[in-house]
Amino acid sequence: MSLALDTERDRRAALASLVDSVVAEIEPLYLRLNHAVWDANLTGAPEHERESARLEAELRGVFARAAPYARLTAIEAAGGVDDPLLERQRELLRNAFRANQLPPETIAHIVRLEKGLESRFNTFRATLDGERVGDNALRQVLRESDDGARRRRAWEASKQIGAGVAADLLALVRLRNQAARTLGFTDHYAMALELKDELTEPQLFSWLDEIEAGTRAPFQLYKRALDERLRQRFAITTAELRPWHYGDPFFQEAPAPAVRLDPWFEGKSLEDLTRRFFAAVGFDLDDLLARADLYEKPGKCQHAFCMSIDRGADVRVLCNVRPDEYWMGTLLHEFGHAVYDRHIDPSLPFLLREPAHVLTTEATAMLFGRLSKNAAWLRRYAGMPAEEAGRAAAASQRAIADQLLVQTRWTLVMAHMERALYRDPSQDLNHLWWDLVERFQGVHRPEHRDAPDWAAKIHFSVAPVYYHNYLLGEVMASQLQRALLGVVGGEGDQRWERLVASPEVGRYLSARLFGSGRSLAWPESVRRATGEELSPAAFLDELSGRG
Ligand SMILES: [Zn+2]
Repeated sequence: MSLALDTERDRRAALASLVDSVVAEIEPLYLRLNHAVWDANLTGAPEHERESARLEAELRGVFARAAPYARLTAIEAAGGVDDPLLERQRELLRNAFRANQLPPETIAHIVRLEKGLESRFNTFRATLDGERVGDNALRQVLRESDDGARRRRAWEASKQIGAGVAADLLALVRLRNQAARTLGFTDHYAMALELKDELTEPQLFSWLDEIEAGTRAPFQLYKRALDERLRQRFAITTAELRPWHYGDPFFQEAPAPAVRLDPWFEGKSLEDLTRRFFAAVGFDLDDLLARADLYEKPGKCQHAFCMSIDRGADVRVLCNVRPDEYWMGTLLHEFGHAVYDRHIDPSLPFLLREPAHVLTTEATAMLFGRLSKNAAWLRRYAGMPAEEAGRAAAASQRAIADQLLVQTRWTLVMAHMERALYRDPSQDLNHLWWDLVERFQGVHRPEHRDAPDWAAKIHFSVAPVYYHNYLLGEVMASQLQRALLGVVGGEGDQRWERLVASPEVGRYLSARLFGSGRSLAWPESVRRATGEELSPAAFLDELSGRG
């Protein structure tokens, strides 16, 4: 191979051979890593966790090498290549290498702190009234108890982990910032946005500001009614409401909606409903269901996720299904991820056989996940009678909007806090946290409290610079929903009847979004899938009932 990069032909040959050699090394590592992660989640066995940590470090080691990175930047400086698929692989590889151009001891130190925090979160159990309790027990108190003093103790217990991890988390933030500065970024937050999400900080925060302004009035309206209900329930004044009077440790969720949907799922096979629904919209789930692990088992991870093991046919969903509305929504959500992964064009190169962005796969999953509260869906799949579905429609539409409002205001706290954390980890973060909670969620801070409550939220430790993607996913889900309602056509409710049962939905999503994988930059994928740029307009319309 010639080392000259003068002509496009030289550069194309050099790049193609570099991509081949990197992929030959990383593809088998990813395959083994994904198997180890799956096995670890299915069994909880420590040997799989050790194996996945080892493989992750090995992969980072590949991207830490200086020579391939120098070659990639030289190809870029000389003018890149004309072949769009090859050019896209160059961009993605450059970002991955750039983020890891660090001394091995720095990477090892970061990984050590990350793994330490992860295992602290996995093994920590809070103490409530002298008893060691899990998260579910604390959440149950906040959902059900009418005893204000006990609620307060449960809420405080939910924050105990914060004090236990704050020092290590701050050390990790400082270390990540130092590393990011040696790579030419102002801090780790800006670096992660640019290299992982292909987003800039001003762009992200201009969307967040627009969403904040657009949700302020409807949220105040919702919150005033909620506070009135809580005041009556706890027999106090609204001025006395504190964080422990809300339904969960961070006020991320709207309390249960007025319509009870669980009875429609009792005694039903949610797996069958999932299969029937996806078949009706054009996706055959047989092979995905055969690979999935859907029910509770000892030692198994208690959450839900979908992962593509081989960026090919081996796509797996993990759930812990019980026959209720929560798990129905979760199944629809996870299989939304699964059909995306499964319909990426298999002839694309390895580096491009992934969704366009976290936000595009979340958008698809959220689009489907919302349907377990949708009247047309409930009627067709859960057997809700037509009149009842009609009556439930407005209430359940309201419940979806309320949940999105509460979640949105909470996500604003998280995004602003995380940016501030990386900008200046020495500032008074304990105080800042409550400033943000009061500003965005309208929840009054507890008196005389100076504790790292923010550090109790697991995402700062184990999923850094990620939380904003949930909100961007909801934003795109509303755009995608609007586009699909247009595709299936019809008037009013008829559009929903069609959306939940037309094979056109599957054809449209496969052709306009899934198929191209990561071959297009994400803004282009959003444009192709929705006919417009990413914009909060459709999302804000939906929240105010104009969707
Ligand atoms: Zn998801």
